[in-house]
Amino acid sequence: MVDVTDWEERVTVALREQHIRLTRPRRAIIHWIASQTTVFSAEALAVAVSTPLARAGRSTVYRMVDQLREQGWLTRVQTERGLYAYSRTILGHHHHAICTRCGATLLIRGCAALDELYSLLSEYGFVVRHHLIELTGLCRNCQQQRR
Ligand SMILES: [Zn+2]
Ligand SMILES: [Zn+2]
Repeated sequence: MVDVTDWEERVTVALREQHIRLTRPRRAIIHWIASQTTVFSAEALAVAVSTPLARAGRSTVYRMVDQLREQGWLTRVQTERGLYAYSRTILGHHHHAICTRCGATLLIRGCAALDELYSLLSEYGFVVRHHLIELTGLCRNCQQQRR
């Protein structure tokens, strides 16, 4: 599992490099997301940053969420109830294992598990250039609740 504790700093640096102005509402949005330990809804974020101090409007929130997702800082998961939830993620190659019930997400770095598949494919003369793997299932908590 990958630690995402410096997410706020990483995102801030990346946005600055793109000359995206870190206005007060944007900073508030990033800060709130950085403090979340579980998945969250865009709605919960919008409510949290609608304070007089942050003054982040709903459209700013939704635009920011889309932007962060496009840039690979957020991952979107669909829960069993069909709702979308978001969780922080990091750039760089990794895989997600997502709980379809509560949206808890594990980040997995490294693709050693694919070695066997790669060598099998090479026997057929196939060269793999890219792979996308996303695993879904139930996290430990949700399995215990089901019993
Ligand atoms: Zn779960
Ligand atoms: Zn991989």
